Amino acid sequence: MTDHLRETLADAGRVLAMEGHGDYVAGHISVRLPGDPGRFLMKPAGIGIEEMRPDNIITVDIEGNKVGGTMPRHNEVYIHSEVLRVRSDVACVIHSHPMHAVAFSSLGKPLVAVGNSSVHFTNGRLPIFSETTDLIISQERGRAVARCLGAHPALILRNHGIVAAGASIEEAVWTAIKLEKACQLQLLAEAAGGPKLLAEGADLDKKRSRADRPDLHANTFGYLVRKWRCQCCGEIVPAPQVVTFENKDQR
Ligand SMILES: [Zn+2]
Repeated sequence: MTDHLRETLADAGRVLAMEGHGDYVAGHISVRLPGDPGRFLMKPAGIGIEEMRPDNIITVDIEGNKVGGTMPRHNEVYIHSEVLRVRSDVACVIHSHPMHAVAFSSLGKPLVAVGNSSVHFTNGRLPIFSETTDLIISQERGRAVARCLGAHPALILRNHGIVAAGASIEEAVWTAIKLEKACQLQLLAEAAGGPKLLAEGADLDKKRSRADRPDLHANTFGYLVRKWRCQCCGEIVPAPQVVTFENKDQR
């Protein structure tokens, strides 16, 4: 029953690594087990995020204890268990150390609407966790991260990494990728003298409302899985039927 979920989680690891979220054996992703809100599947410790396979993924309970699988558990498990504990709307949690997000966090500046990827995180939508720059290896610290995240889809752990959460694996991957891209865009603008023109007001609100939909999450994830297979294995994977949006306002 969890076979498909395990395969999607393994695909998510490959996609995240391809998009700059790999950090050797650091970084992890989890997904809540359907029908069992107190347990989740998670990447094991000791391997790269792109090395997850359906049979090496571990199962963890909401207290952070490993209850299934043979490989070791990440000591930052509490980011996942504590976010999943308080966010019933969240099924998937990602923690990674993407370079641009970490570099951006050191500027101490708010994220602004430089480009399309930025719109989800502007105007108070991106909490910064500053309680520590150390690893989140206790339940108490995990709880503090979950509190800082609140109802938002993502946060930055200052001088450390990011946390992204979503109702599906596809949505959380989308958010993690968009956040890293938004930070990269702003770093480029900062390096060129600082952004002078930004999306704002009603224009920004309209763009944001178009830019975060389940069909986009699913289609982008599917595209990135095909791209990874093509780059990694030379396999040309035919594009499947796309998920469509009811008002046909595709992009
Ligand atoms: Zn970390």
